[in-house]
Amino acid sequence: MQIFFPKEEAQEIRATILPEVAKKLVDLGIQVSVESGLGDKVFVSDDLYSTAGATICHDRAGGFKSADVVCKINKPTSDEIQLLTKDSIYISFLDPFNEKQIVTELASAGVSSISMELVPRITRAQKMDALSSQANLAGYAAVIEASRTLSKSFPMMMTAAGTISPARVFIVGVGVAGLQAIATAKRLGARVEAFDTRPVVEEQVRSLGAKFVKIDIGETEETDQGYAKELSDDQIKMQQEGMKKICSQSDVIITTAQVFGRPAPRIISQDMVEAMQPGSVVVDMAVSTGGNVEGSKNDEYVFHNGVTIIGMSNLPGEVAKDASQVFGSNIFNMIEEFWDSEKKSINFDLEDEILKGCVITHQGSIVNESVK
Ligand code: NAD
Repeated sequence: MQIFFPKEEAQEIRATILPEVAKKLVDLGIQVSVESGLGDKVFVSDDLYSTAGATICHDRAGGFKSADVVCKINKPTSDEIQLLTKDSIYISFLDPFNEKQIVTELASAGVSSISMELVPRITRAQKMDALSSQANLAGYAAVIEASRTLSKSFPMMMTAAGTISPARVFIVGVGVAGLQAIATAKRLGARVEAFDTRPVVEEQVRSLGAKFVKIDIGETEETDQGYAKELSDDQIKMQQEGMKKICSQSDVIITTAQVFGRPAPRIISQDMVEAMQPGSVVVDMAVSTGGNVEGSKNDEYVFHNGVTIIGMSNLPGEVAKDASQVFGSNIFNMIEEFWDSEKKSINFDLEDEILKGCVITHQGSIVNESVK
């Protein structure tokens, strides 16, 4: 069986796999082919992949055509789908609820596609959970970016020239990214407060030494996978009212609020941004799914009334080497889980809970119930 790792598009810094993980695939008995230059942006040369046992491919289209499995981080283009052979397997983030055309094209091409977003959140699949591995690093990167932009220090400093107060950081949405953002801001010495619609999070926030902001928004629900359900318009208004004062007092707000399969909730209104002190910073980590902050723009720094609103869509790319390391491990863990060492192929068992959750197309049809 041959796996091909093509290069990503120009704006992507991460590589799908690093040599030490590629070697683990080789050790399973898999022929690993990487496109020449795959690791360039994370300072990993073709030679290192070769030493790990991978073949360096200089013919991108040929790599797609001859592979049994193709892995990327980002969704495929239509041209790439045309190159895939019938019955081959394609793995990447696919954004299947929004990318209907890609899903249809993958089905028509007879490709078995796996969407990394839909790996179910069960214990056995944690090692394959690329949403979490990337969100964790994104939470870290968001705080580092905020601290670089803010014109004040995060920690309190008591000096002969006077006392510098700690930065006040407010984290909205405490899932994987939010928890890492809290931990990172605390490590930098900030005073951290956080809010999430799921009350179960309160204990986790406190255990990191941050304060949980209590806002009564009535009944909230979560899915069996631990994702928050959408709030009503009235509940969002109650949330905004409850957050107004704390937003106005914060030097940094980092929003991570997401509702799985839906646009991100719009939580921070223009009024709330305008109530912040000039020089404050807002990082909208949900910018690419619609944005939590009014006025945020994908891959832009927006300056509004003295406040910088940061909307970076690829925060894991700011720590690209680590992000590549953990993404590659997620891929390896998935392949190893279903690897049939006798047949030297992937056991594509659609009755398996993990594959049932994340396989989108198979044998010419859309097979995933939630995507269908
Ligand atoms: P996510 O990216 O879907 O959302 C981020 C956070 O935003 C969530 O905590 C959500 O509750 C919150 N949110 C949604 N609407 C909001 C609003 N209006 N205001 C404030 N916050 C709002 O979530 P995630 O980071 O992927 O994780 C969700 C949960 O799943 C977490 O508790 C996480 O620890 C858990 N998880 C479990 C597993 C597992 O294998 N069991 C794996 C990964 C994550």
